[in-house]
Amino acid sequence: MTKDLLGRHHAVLPDWLALYYEEPLEITHGEGRHVWDADGNRYLDFFGGILTTMTAHALPEVTKAISEQAGRILHSSTLYLNRPMVELAERIAELSGIPDARVFFTTSGTEANDTALLLATTYRRSNTVLAMRNSYHGRSFSAVGITGNRGWSPTSLSPLQTLYVHGGVRTRGPFAHLDDEAFIAACVADLKDVLGHTRPPAALIAEPVQGVGGFTSGPDGLYAAFREVLTERGILWIADEVQTGWGRTGDHFWGWQAHARSGPPDILTFAKGIGNGMSIGGVVARAEVMNCLDANSISTFGGTQITMAAGLANLGYLLEHDLQGNARRVGGLLRERLRSVAAQVPHVREVRGRGLMLGIELTRPGTDEADPAAASAVLEAARDGGLLIGKGGGHDTSALRVAPPLTLTVAEAEEGAAILESALRSL
Ligand code: PLP
Repeated sequence: MTKDLLGRHHAVLPDWLALYYEEPLEITHGEGRHVWDADGNRYLDFFGGILTTMTAHALPEVTKAISEQAGRILHSSTLYLNRPMVELAERIAELSGIPDARVFFTTSGTEANDTALLLATTYRRSNTVLAMRNSYHGRSFSAVGITGNRGWSPTSLSPLQTLYVHGGVRTRGPFAHLDDEAFIAACVADLKDVLGHTRPPAALIAEPVQGVGGFTSGPDGLYAAFREVLTERGILWIADEVQTGWGRTGDHFWGWQAHARSGPPDILTFAKGIGNGMSIGGVVARAEVMNCLDANSISTFGGTQITMAAGLANLGYLLEHDLQGNARRVGGLLRERLRSVAAQVPHVREVRGRGLMLGIELTRPGTDEADPAAASAVLEAARDGGLLIGKGGGHDTSALRVAPPLTLTVAEAEEGAAILESALRSL
């Protein structure tokens, strides 16, 4: 029972865990796009864990692969080869678009980004890194250190020298009033200006759509324009696809493809959805970059059989059922539905995003001022109505995030939109 757990967690867990709701929610099980709490209440899951349940809760194909693998062996470490790891690496290498790609598996997005930074700084022999304002890359010392979202890294000192550039947020900041072309030109000028004041950085790390930052992005083509400047100066581009990969954005399999003119990134990191809840992260880089590390760069649990089996089954399901196409179709309907609601709710500044990665920005009516209290109120009201969504958007946390499993049906999209509508109208 949740009531039994209430309060007990304060004695043993950090104060900053399980803070999402005023009264913490204890989830006991899930099926499809639904989860249940310990009191038997059912919720439509419009956050998919945290974009971790990519296909569906308790997807039989994934459950079967996990239990079959569990009957053979769970783990033998990366000291040895195992077939599921090689097979999943083959699929991801091919899908990544990176030529001569090598894949290294980790157990989280944080560790994937740490590895990407390790690769880039070793390859380029520079410990300076460019990152985007309002970004989030994880919670290790170096990942938190480069995170441009101060709400998530208030006191951290990075071991890397990090310089932040504009472009991840379209609707706020000094360039918000510009059209897309002028916005991109201003961001490129900002990038060049930053580069003029530093030793050559190893890499630029960026989320194609900022996740924790509130599902925001610059215009399509931004990173293509950045890429030209970076390539000229031998700076690597790391695309953090931890939230944007696997077709979630509908139009593309990877977020970087919205900037396709640039070609693939030098390094791509992934995590979250690939394991459908199992802990898989990883890095893809061309061989020359990946192999700049010496031996001994292993991850004890990375690439372990039980998670790889889940990843293979999950990815296979996603591709066979064209869930990217489903994200585009159902996500498109959902976005239009939310936009028509938003037009009648003065707190909603905009509904943005693509596929099943939609952000709703809340401001105090008639102003540009972020409204975190409104975001929390909607989150609570949605929960009361039987819907789980996410929050995000910089340290002011004034955006709502909608990212259901990619098998979402039109009927479920309608059902969730109706709950969200009444939650928004209750403001
Ligand atoms: N990168 C991005 C874009 C993320 O959104 C996150 C987590 O939310 C991470 C990295 C860190 O991943 P993990 O929590 O698996 O360490």
